[in-house]
Amino acid sequence: MIEANDTGSSTRNACKLCAPLGACLAFKGIEGAITLLHGSQGCSTYIRRYMISHFKEPVDIASSNFTESAAVFGGAQSFSTALDNVIRQYRPAMIGIATTCLSETIGDDVESFIRQYQPPPGLPAPELVKVSTASYRGTHSEGFMDSLRAVVEALAQPGTPIGGTPKSAWGCLGGCVRSGHPKADLGVPQEPPGGHINLLPGMVSPADLRYLKELLADFALPATLLSDYSDTLDGGAWSEYQLIPPGGTRLEDLRRMGSALATVEFSSTFEPARTAGAHLEHYCQVPLHRMGLPMGVSRTDDFMALLARLSGRAVPAKHVEERQRLIDSLADAHKYVMEKRAVIYGEEDLVVGLAAMLSETGIVPVLCASGGRSGRMRGALQALAPQLADATVMEGADFADIEQAAGDLKVDLVVGNSKGYAMARRLDRPRRSDRPCNPRPGSPGRALLPWAARRPLWPAAARCRCCNTRSSSARCRPGTGGWARRGLSP
Ligand code: SF4
Repeated sequence: MIEANDTGSSTRNACKLCAPLGACLAFKGIEGAITLLHGSQGCSTYIRRYMISHFKEPVDIASSNFTESAAVFGGAQSFSTALDNVIRQYRPAMIGIATTCLSETIGDDVESFIRQYQPPPGLPAPELVKVSTASYRGTHSEGFMDSLRAVVEALAQPGTPIGGTPKSAWGCLGGCVRSGHPKADLGVPQEPPGGHINLLPGMVSPADLRYLKELLADFALPATLLSDYSDTLDGGAWSEYQLIPPGGTRLEDLRRMGSALATVEFSSTFEPARTAGAHLEHYCQVPLHRMGLPMGVSRTDDFMALLARLSGRAVPAKHVEERQRLIDSLADAHKYVMEKRAVIYGEEDLVVGLAAMLSETGIVPVLCASGGRSGRMRGALQALAPQLADATVMEGADFADIEQAAGDLKVDLVVGNSKGYAMARRLDRPRRSDRPCNPRPGSPGRALLPWAARRPLWPAAARCRCCNTRSSSARCRPGTGGWARRGLSP
């Protein structure tokens, strides 16, 4: 494995985004929630601009708007004023509070600010959930995952095993108890174990979230999806502006997460003990099933088998048929892509998922790179397929490092988000995949997860190769598959 910046060189065009951006995405998927960034205004402006570019939806992010004096003497007053303004203007059910590099660097004690805070008289007090997101400590993925954990710590209440000891007796109120939050009332009613599960899919697209909800409904398996931004970041047109867009995971469902039958969490590179699922398992005794993103036939099979076991039902016929269609399209197209050499870059979990999927098609991932530094990417890749043991793995990489390594490895195809566009052009290689994809409208509507959803991406990779070497006629394009596969209806 190569640690790209071990040489001490500066970062040139980072292959990651800032940690509070991940927090904003996570909080965006909670009903009635708004994010407040504790720090300088530029951070919220940058993140708003970035998210709006990708999702093409309005994104409001509040800021405590540090001045010079706040940067020197601390941001307690700015924080309190910001909370007052947000509560008056938005009347949120929850405020997700994420720290920025500046407030982390000066060491603001935000938890004590929260304990001392009194909402404006006459207005309902929202839930206040705080997450520490210094960008110099982590990536946007880590900001996202840490925010889910903070939400679960603050809101999830333990269930009561039938005939057993209430789980709160084991100290399960997580963040509420530790922060002294008003919810830390051991008298809160205990939920009996429910027939529902928790699904924590990580940073996937709104289309993926919709696909997962449809899949769970097909298994007749009630589930709390955390976090669900499928409507808030990919909703329909409004006749009137909504301060907080409708949709998201409901707070009452978040509170029930501690009494679920099981938690299913997609992550193969994030620190296992730090996830929301680990908290629910450790403090609320909710069994945890952790797996990588279900991309690739094999991993999707594992996910379907797990859902079948949890629901007590066979995999629904429509999904079995979809799997057959996917296998057929793989067989049709493998001759175009067999042994083509690919560089894959992006978030670590996504890189691992894409490598799993592409290696099933015959493409050889020769370079897997990420700006993250979990130290787990190589292990996760090797666990997928023995042939991936030969791939060059770069952690902590920037685009300059990736471009240099890709040039040396003579790759045929570049797979990753649109920030690698310039690199792909200089390498004179086609690029596919689009998270984030700023210039292209519609990218939130593209899915990468299970069988049906993956068909659009993988033939696109094959087409990329095909069109670069042969005519652009649809007849020679794997995956276009005639009307049946392209879909002509809206
Ligand atoms: S200063 Fe830190 S938190 Fe703010 S935008 Fe930059 S990386 Fe993100």
